[in-house]
Amino acid sequence: MTDTPTTRFAPSPTGPLHLGHAYSALTAHDRAQSAGGRMLLRIEDIDTARSKPEWEAQIFDDLAWLGLDWPRPVLRQSVRRPAYDAALDRLGVMGVIYPCRCRRADIRAALSAPQAGAPVHGPDGLVYPGTCRDRPMAAAGAQDAIRLNMGAALDRIGRMLPTFRETGPLHGGLHRLDATALIKGVGDVVLARRDIGTSYHMAVVVDDAFQGITEVVRGADLFEATQIHVLLQALLGLPTPAYHHHRLITDDTGKRLAKRDDARALATYRAEGATPAAIRRMIGL
Ligand code: GLU
Repeated sequence: MTDTPTTRFAPSPTGPLHLGHAYSALTAHDRAQSAGGRMLLRIEDIDTARSKPEWEAQIFDDLAWLGLDWPRPVLRQSVRRPAYDAALDRLGVMGVIYPCRCRRADIRAALSAPQAGAPVHGPDGLVYPGTCRDRPMAAAGAQDAIRLNMGAALDRIGRMLPTFRETGPLHGGLHRLDATALIKGVGDVVLARRDIGTSYHMAVVVDDAFQGITEVVRGADLFEATQIHVLLQALLGLPTPAYHHHRLITDDTGKRLAKRDDARALATYRAEGATPAAIRRMIGL
């Protein structure tokens, strides 16, 4: 049996959708449709302090206005905590995670020590210096984040690192994970934040597998995070989908659009009388 081609659009309801989101949603939809499959909508609301029901309602409105349709009910990550906790527990049994009590200032201080070398920025910000790496999970408290021990995770997987297939125009082809890049350029990423008990990486990996996603369509800014996702899939025994990272939509000055760019919010274009066809033209689809 082959899987139904399934893509997803996975916005966080923390602000208005803008032209960049329209590009992602339309691409995910069009690629699913041309493969005879379907696009799912997933609401990525693990950050309960920043997610708002009114933004979620506007996401549904904007996407319907664009002419998109998706199966209901949609999956909300805020109800999926037990699944994320179960995945974290499995990694705990493998001995590849540890509790970290460092605050941002501690990390900066450790990285500015004379012997530390130049700090490296990874997909999640500064590469963690490993201060808490030897703390056992039994010591984990409510004030701790949980980090992946990247070295231990790579040891666990063994010499043959997993690959992923990229179908996007920017990095197309087969990519094999690289141990040195993961250790030096990514490091011990946070898998459970102290405030929300999970993380984007954990939630996205668990849910892409749970929803049977066969191709992840998203912006090129998440290409570097993909190696983290593929590594977690290998550890957790989950399938690796294909990935399609698309170009980012920028403003007139070449700067990438952010949630706060209300001027390019779909709702603003709608209010000014733009049509969905005009939106497609604006973003070159
Ligand atoms: N929720 C993420 C965002 O709003 C997208 C994550 C993904 O597509 O993997 O940017």
